[in-house]
Amino acid sequence: MTDPGGAPSGITPARLEAVRARIAAACAAAGRGPEAVTLVAVSKTFPAEAVRAAYALGLRDFGENYAQELRLKAEALRDLALRWHFVGHLQRNKVGPVAAWASVVHAVDSVPIAAALGRRVAQAGRSVRVLVQVDLTGAEGRSGCAPEALPAVLDAVRAEGSLTLSGLMTLPPHTEDPRGARAFFDALAALRERHGGPSALPELSMGMTHDLEVAIEAGATMVRVGTGLFGHRG
Ligand SMILES: *Cc1c(COP(=O)(O)O)cnc(C)c1O
Repeated sequence: MTDPGGAPSGITPARLEAVRARIAAACAAAGRGPEAVTLVAVSKTFPAEAVRAAYALGLRDFGENYAQELRLKAEALRDLALRWHFVGHLQRNKVGPVAAWASVVHAVDSVPIAAALGRRVAQAGRSVRVLVQVDLTGAEGRSGCAPEALPAVLDAVRAEGSLTLSGLMTLPPHTEDPRGARAFFDALAALRERHGGPSALPELSMGMTHDLEVAIEAGATMVRVGTGLFGHRG
C-alpha cells in the first residue's frame, strides 16, 4: 500500500514520534501535561498486523469504526493487553461485537442505542466507558445527538449499570484550515460545563490528525489519530 505522495503506509517509529511531539507541544502551549491527553490510534482499514506493530511501539489504545472489523481484529489480537475504542456510528443491530470487545465507546448518540448497548454489555458480564457524541453543526444526516437532546442521552447512559458515563465527543465538519474546527471544540467544552463540568464528564474526545493541536488547545483529553500514525487509508 502506498499513499498518493508515495510514502508506504504502516506505522513507523518516526510517524509515532512526530504525532507524540505534536501532542506534547500542544499540551505545553496550553499549560497542560502531556499525560492529560490519551492518544487513540485509529486503525480502521489497516490489518491486525499493523495494530500489532503499533502495540510493539508502545501504543495501547486503538480505535475502530466498524463493528465487524473490530470483532475480527480483536479476536486476532486477543493475546495483547490493549484497549479497543469504538469511534464509529453505532447501529442497534451491530452492538454485539462492540459490547463484547470495546473498552470505550465514543459515539453513543440516542436513548435507544444507550439502552441496547447497556443491555448487551451487561449480558456479556462486562463494563464499558461511554462518551456521548454531539452534533454541533445542525446539518442533516450527521451522527450525534443535538445539544437539546443531550440531557436525555446522558440520563439513558447513567441508567445502565454496565455503562460508565465518561464524557463527550464531537466531529466537526472538515475545513482546510484546522482553526475552522475551534468553534466546534469550544462549543463541546461549553456544553460539558453546562452539564456538570469535568467531574461529571471527564473526557472530551475531539481532534484528529488534521486538527489535534486546535482540539488540545480547547481542552481535548482524547485525540483520535489515524492517518498521522498509519499513513493514508487505501
Ligand atoms: C477515521 C476517524 C478518525 C481518524 O481520522 P484521521 O484523519 O485519519 O486521523 C478519527 N475519528 C473518527 C470518528 C474517524 O472515523
